[in-house]
Parts: sequence; structure tokens; C-alpha cells
Amino acid sequence: MFNRRKFIKASALSASLLAIGKKNALAFTVVPNPGPPVVISTWDFGIPANKAAWKVLSAGGRALDAVEQGVHVPEADPKIQTVGYGGFPDRDGHVTLDSCIMDEFGNCGAVAGMEHIIHPISVARLVMEKTPHVMLVGEGALQFALENGFKKENLLTKESEKAWKEWLKTAKYEPVMNIENKYDKAAPRKLPGNQYNHDTIGMLALDAKGNLSGACTTSGMAYKLHGRVGDSPIIGAGLYIDNEIGGATSTGVGEEVIRNVGSFLVVELMRQGHSPEEACKEAVMRIIKKKPDIAKNIQVGFLALNKKGEYGAYAIQKGFSYAVCTAQKDDLLIDGKSYY
Ligand code: ASP
Repeated sequence: MFNRRKFIKASALSASLLAIGKKNALAFTVVPNPGPPVVISTWDFGIPANKAAWKVLSAGGRALDAVEQGVHVPEADPKIQTVGYGGFPDRDGHVTLDSCIMDEFGNCGAVAGMEHIIHPISVARLVMEKTPHVMLVGEGALQFALENGFKKENLLTKESEKAWKEWLKTAKYEPVMNIENKYDKAAPRKLPGNQYNHDTIGMLALDAKGNLSGACTTSGMAYKLHGRVGDSPIIGAGLYIDNEIGGATSTGVGEEVIRNVGSFLVVELMRQGHSPEEACKEAVMRIIKKKPDIAKNIQVGFLALNKKGEYGAYAIQKGFSYAVCTAQKDDLLIDGKSYY
């Protein structure tokens, strides 16, 4: 059984880390088990994404199909400048996409640094289903996509091109945290003047048969070096599913997630008996503990769903939101609290 006192003691944080934790980190939330099907996903844009996933789940469909359909929504939405079409480019003006998918059998597929394809998650699924490989990158990923009937598109919208040109004036690479709660019920969160420049959709689903799958897709950090790959397409970092235990996904500055093999860590902590919330918190605390100076100024959030349908999240900074859809509710949780 999980012992909260032991857990807190084991974290053994320095005074400065505790300060970060106290001031900014989310409080635990006890989420009752709604049972399958369940779909959860990162950030405000998880709400419309969950709706698309729910169509599949509520019809008795497979979690794998649900997560693929779900993340298609932000991938195709040009107003979401951190995922897919309309994403902010790298510092050389290329929109490069990172995605991965994992199913209930432990199969997985990924693409990284891929350009010109609106739905990289579907290419990742094809890598999983049609090749003996797990990941294709760059030109090779694009070639594979085109050979399999995907259309070559220009993903750089006028808005994102304008933001990039503005950025070029200073060309200072600086992740901007999405820490403000400015959710507008009529439209997904949109801060004025492109105030934030990274956020990924990570989605986890448990279907009516009790099987888990997950998907994670992003255009990565705005204005990154050309060729930079984050955590999102890396199995174990941006996403991990173990159908016996649960699944986890991440968002935020990917370098810190990769260093800690974040999503795999969350799933392993759940295997040891931690709840989804506790597992996410411990993974966040590892990041803070290893690099307190970096952690002070960045956002990383984890989201987890276990085999029973219990879910939870934890982030370094305030303002992390995730969307939940079950037969009982369709909700957005900001800092662990129900928005509706
Ligand atoms: N994890 C993504 C990356 O590092 C960005 C994000 O989710 O905010 O590319």
C-alpha cells in the first residue's frame, strides 16, 4: 500500500525545491474510479480531442482507434500553434513534427522531425503496423508517408510564419510556460500574442474491453534547432503503455522528460502501487531534484491512467490542464480542479 508520509520523506527535497513545489506544483486530487471507457488528454485542446475519441469509445471501439482519431483534432487545427498543421516552425522556418502511438499489445510506432504531413500520428501508426521498425525520422519518415498515400502539405500558416519572423528579430530561444488559466469556454485557450510556444497533446484511453492505448503528437518547442527531437515521439519518454498496469504521457520541455525517461517511470511507479497522481508527482519531483535551477523556469507535466480507469496528473508549475471524458463527465481539470 502507498504510504504518503514515507513518500514525502523519500522525496527528501532541498529547501529551494520545496519552495518550487509549495508555490507552484499542483495539489493531489483524488479521482474516483469512473471505470472504462475513459479518455484523458493534455491541455485545453484535449476537450475537442476527447470528444472525437469518445465517439469511438462509446461505440465499443478500440482504444487505439480512439486515440488516433482524438489527436487528429488538434493536429488539423491551424489555431493550435503547438501541434501539427499551423505549428510554430523551428528556427530555420521548418514545421517539424514528432509523434508516437502505443497499443495494448506493447506495439509502438513513431515519427520524428517529419515535415509536410498533417496527421503524423497516423504515419506513426503505419510505422507500427506495416514495418519491422519503431521509429522513422526526417526525410525517411516523409518518404514512407508519401509512399503510403499521405499528401504533402505546407504546414506553415501565415500566423506562425509571422510569429517566427518576429522571433527572428531577437532569435532568443526561450521556452514560454503556459501558466495562465485563461480558458475560454467558447474556444480553446488562446493567449494573446503567442505568449506560449510549446504544448503537446498526449492522450490515453481505456476502452470498454479494458484495453489501453496512447498517442502523443506535437510540433515541439517553437524555434528549436533544426533537427531537434523532443520527448514526444520517444517511447518511454513522451508516452508509455503497459496494458497490465496503465499508461502515461508528458508535455513540457522534452529534454528534462527524456533525461528521466518520464512516462516509463510513471508507469513503473504505478506498478509499484502508486496511484496515477502519486506516480506523476514522483516523476515531476525527480526532474526538480536533478536540475532544480532548470526546473524553476520550465513546465513539465505528466498525465496517467491506470487499468482500473483511475487517472491523475502533476506538473512542475501551476496552470497545467487536462481534459477527461467518461460516461459520467466531460471535464477540464486545471491544477487538479474541475473547471466546470
Ligand atoms: N514536449 C514537447 C517537446 O519537448 C513540448 C511540449 O509538450 O510542451 O517537444
